[in-house]
Amino acid sequence: MATGTIDVFDHYAHEDDYPDLDADGAVARLARAIACRTIYTTPEETDFSPFDALLELMRTSYPHVMAAGTLELVGHSILIGIPGSDPTLEAAQLMAHQDVVPVVPGTESLWEHGAFEGFVDDEYVWGRGALDIKDMLMGELEAVDYLLAHHGRPRRGIYLAFGEDEEVTSRGATRLASEMERRGIRLAWLLDEGTTTMFDGAA
Ligand SMILES: [Zn+2]
Repeated sequence: MATGTIDVFDHYAHEDDYPDLDADGAVARLARAIACRTIYTTPEETDFSPFDALLELMRTSYPHVMAAGTLELVGHSILIGIPGSDPTLEAAQLMAHQDVVPVVPGTESLWEHGAFEGFVDDEYVWGRGALDIKDMLMGELEAVDYLLAHHGRPRRGIYLAFGEDEEVTSRGATRLASEMERRGIRLAWLLDEGTTTMFDGAA
């Protein structure tokens, strides 16, 4: 397996390259995503209405993604396919998960701001999922929506794939992978939650 690490500070090296990025809007959308209590327990006991609310937030917040792509539900997992202009190129895939872990009972009062309040001050977005991992979920949608709005359809197709139960069983991601395999979809690369370690999935 070929591996390589990235200096984490490289992630912030290009922040000023997008002066017209709607950063305040992105923060507000992330806060609304945090307010969706997407806690997955079991298929039978999970309240899926917050997942439906999160899906609706995606549908209404990212018009360019929705116009250019096809959104499908695989169970409660979300798969959005955006075709590239060059069909000979393998697609890229951006992943995250919709669910968050619950607040440990009895620790509610220890939260400075409510876990599902989506509180924003002049420094932080507070709440469950701010780091794990609605920042990535919404950030990927923000990035692709920006790309489509400013540069049109990319040459390489893009898949956005969001499982619903990563904190419990990851069956959603497994179902997504199986469905993509069934369709014969092959990817050039994939980005998912994890450390800043790159590895060659084909090795
Ligand atoms: Zn996570």
